[in-house]
Amino acid sequence: MIIYEMKLKGTKDQYRRLDEAIRTGRFVRNSIIKAWMDGEVKTRNDAYKYCKILSDNPEFPWANKLNSQARQAHAERAWVAIERFYLNCKLKRPGKKGYPRFKKHQVRASVEYKTSGWKLSEDRHYLTFSDKFKAGSFRLWGSRDLHYYQLKDIKRIRVVRRYDWYYAQFVINYTREEAKEPCNRQIGLDMGLSHFYTDSNGDKVENPRFLRKGEERIKKLQRRLSRTRKGSKNRLKAKNRLGRAHLKVSRRRNDWVCKLAQRVIQSNDLVAIENLKVRNMVKNHNLAKSINDAAWYRFREWLEYFGSIYRVEVIAVDPKYTSQNCSSCSQKVLKSLSTRTHVCPHCGYIADRDENAAINILSKALEKSKTTLGHRESHASGENPLCSVVETLQSKGTRRKRKPS
Ligand SMILES: [Zn+2]
Repeated sequence: MIIYEMKLKGTKDQYRRLDEAIRTGRFVRNSIIKAWMDGEVKTRNDAYKYCKILSDNPEFPWANKLNSQARQAHAERAWVAIERFYLNCKLKRPGKKGYPRFKKHQVRASVEYKTSGWKLSEDRHYLTFSDKFKAGSFRLWGSRDLHYYQLKDIKRIRVVRRYDWYYAQFVINYTREEAKEPCNRQIGLDMGLSHFYTDSNGDKVENPRFLRKGEERIKKLQRRLSRTRKGSKNRLKAKNRLGRAHLKVSRRRNDWVCKLAQRVIQSNDLVAIENLKVRNMVKNHNLAKSINDAAWYRFREWLEYFGSIYRVEVIAVDPKYTSQNCSSCSQKVLKSLSTRTHVCPHCGYIADRDENAAINILSKALEKSKTTLGHRESHASGENPLCSVVETLQSKGTRRKRKPS
């Protein structure tokens, strides 16, 4: 599954109609969550059936305007949230279980169509929506060529509203594969705050400057937002600016980690990383750390994505003790966070703290690889829209800046 994203160019009135469709998708999702709370919906099938009840109800004329398969897609979104809650309860996960909640209005939102309710023009430059919102035809802007793919392979289309524009995401059933010669190199990566990562060869990759700068800008805009009055026009403007700044950072970050991940995969036969707990990462009030974590999370997604394309094993291991144990004699050498050098009193091995950790991560992964040989996990994105990897178009800004060498 790959996802291509393109800009939708239309008129103000057309965007307003897309807003209506997005709002209706959210309405369907929230209604089903409500029906589940009331005990009316108990299974996925009930959720599908409930779509019909909604669209037949004259009290909600808008529900009938949304394409029927799109209604189902939003029933699925509701059901994903319910199922996740059930699963967390069943596995007795510590902390909050993620009881499904109603989605409120947000600028960043989307509506999802399956295989009907839209049409691509013959030349594939226009996308037309044919449900009762009558949003009409939009010109597609982007660097991707949709000609390469069969129409039947386009499984879903999402209209995504962001702070700066409306986009169409094409979810295409296609598996990319690239040839790669084995190079007899394996690598372990230790993630850090001072460096983006340190590998098991002792090489360090610095955090890019633009993340630091983006962080400063976001901080400034956040302060500005907090100084505005609630409900005022200035607040709305400040919010918009902050949203755009976040968007800009996340795009550049994604661009950067994507290229980095591809390079790492292309020059190794096995890549070992830490299994970072996303649940702990997401809620974080330290901006620098949350930006770093988001970069990390993205980087891992890209590693796994390119790993499946180039057939390179990407193994995530439990980070426990990787910084404490000696990578040479495996004795435990306790050290505080400020100790930057690993000095082993047992075997005399001396190394950079992070390099030692990276070597431990690699050997843990090799151990794991031996026992799971032949049972490679698949990284298919499946139905869940959250875990799919987006192959975004490169931002125009970076392309323009590149000078011919
Ligand atoms: Zn040692």
